[in-house]
Amino acid sequence: MSKPYADREVWFLTGSQSLYGEETLRQVAEQSQEVARVLDEAGDVPVRIVWKPVLKDTESIRRAMIDASSDDRVLGVITWMHTFSPSKMWIKGLDQLRKPLLHLHTQANVELPWDTIDFDFMNLNQAAHGDREHGYIQSRMGIARTTVAGHVTSPVVQARVGAWVRAAAGWAATHEMRLVRFGDNMRYVAVTEGDKTEAEITFGVSVNTWGVNELVEAVEAVADADVDVLVAQYEELYDVVPELRLGGERHESLRYAARQEIAIEGFLTALGATAFTTTFEDLGGLRQLPGLAVQRLMAKGYGFGAEGDWKTAVLVRAAKVMGEGLPGGASLMEDYTYDMTPGAELILGAHMLEVCPSLTTSRPTVEIHPLGIGGKEDPVRMVFSTDAGPGVVVAMSDMRDRFRLTANVVDVVTPPAALPHLPVARAVWQPRPDFTTSAEAWLTAGAAHHTVLSTQVGLEVFEIFAQLARTELLVIDEHTTRRGFADQVRWNQVYYRIAQGL
Ligand code: MN
Repeated sequence: MSKPYADREVWFLTGSQSLYGEETLRQVAEQSQEVARVLDEAGDVPVRIVWKPVLKDTESIRRAMIDASSDDRVLGVITWMHTFSPSKMWIKGLDQLRKPLLHLHTQANVELPWDTIDFDFMNLNQAAHGDREHGYIQSRMGIARTTVAGHVTSPVVQARVGAWVRAAAGWAATHEMRLVRFGDNMRYVAVTEGDKTEAEITFGVSVNTWGVNELVEAVEAVADADVDVLVAQYEELYDVVPELRLGGERHESLRYAARQEIAIEGFLTALGATAFTTTFEDLGGLRQLPGLAVQRLMAKGYGFGAEGDWKTAVLVRAAKVMGEGLPGGASLMEDYTYDMTPGAELILGAHMLEVCPSLTTSRPTVEIHPLGIGGKEDPVRMVFSTDAGPGVVVAMSDMRDRFRLTANVVDVVTPPAALPHLPVARAVWQPRPDFTTSAEAWLTAGAAHHTVLSTQVGLEVFEIFAQLARTELLVIDEHTTRRGFADQVRWNQVYYRIAQGL
């Protein structure tokens, strides 16, 4: 079975030491290969797990960590101390490691062989204290890592390893990300601003701006024959309204949307970019705000933020990579308007146009409607409702001295009515723990109105991602209380400032 991250790998590193003798070390090697094999074959672990020879001394550990750090295919390393592996041997290696680390605390056997256990068995199976020594040195060195304890055959353990792999893939994606901004931010908006230099230091993402006129030229240069092909695809994939279809009176608008899609994708490909932003206030000679084009490109895996919001574009791209191969999708989202019926409150999320169709399994319609903002021609867009199910919305704010991620666990619901007059794609959800607590906590956090909505990965993956980036994450879920959340915001204010050092 092929894995979602087929061209990547995670290295499985087993710690021991030479003083046990050959026979024990042979068993350590065999049993650690078996642990790695079980993980490799687990359906919930989305990458190949590659076993490496048992590490027994400072130099081999250092070398393994340097090799893992310098190999672009490696998403991260898993360490397990099958026997005791004195941790001063790990200092130089851990100091070199630049990749996500998962400390797996497991052992070869599930049950103890109570009737036959002797001291040879004890000598071989001592992860219970070997891993404690390993945890000590990681804590002492301040190594950010995920710790997972339990037998490797446990579905819970496998799912948690899988969540870490996904977060590590997100971390790799932001470090490989080039983000193209067409134009700057929407004028006067505060929360979409941010420190692009700090973003490259924190998340590894390179954020730069291109003049929209370069895009206009690319749009005009698209060959008619390519537009023909793409428009035919639209008619096959979606319910295109008659006025936009071939022969319809507004077919030219659909052709222009296709032209935009081809041009933007070509532009991004040429630059090796995986995320972008647009802004309706700076469209230059573009005839429409890109709607359908942006929706289609998000569905292909590109990150996107509207109104110049590059921070949300980073999150959308990371969420798409982290959710690779899972049902559901990820999209730019905006908390738009509420149903405030007491006890049954709902949030209607949408955007002017740009919501990704990965959020639905239904067949979108492609429509054209006026946009009362921006002063351009009517834009073409896909319209649909997001599938019901669990999800998480995550926002990024720049708090001046750091980035803050805020996540709310939500339940997407089927809209209570058909919304026949709403001309945009949308998602309707109930925030956890309830509307009042969620909204008050969100505002207390200073979290943004733009988010990524993921229906593919849950909170845990974002938690690990934030930990890898050493970035604050405030969580609003079923355990959140107003008082507890306010305390957390205050305490974090102190912690994250101190944690940055002087
Ligand atoms: Mn917006």
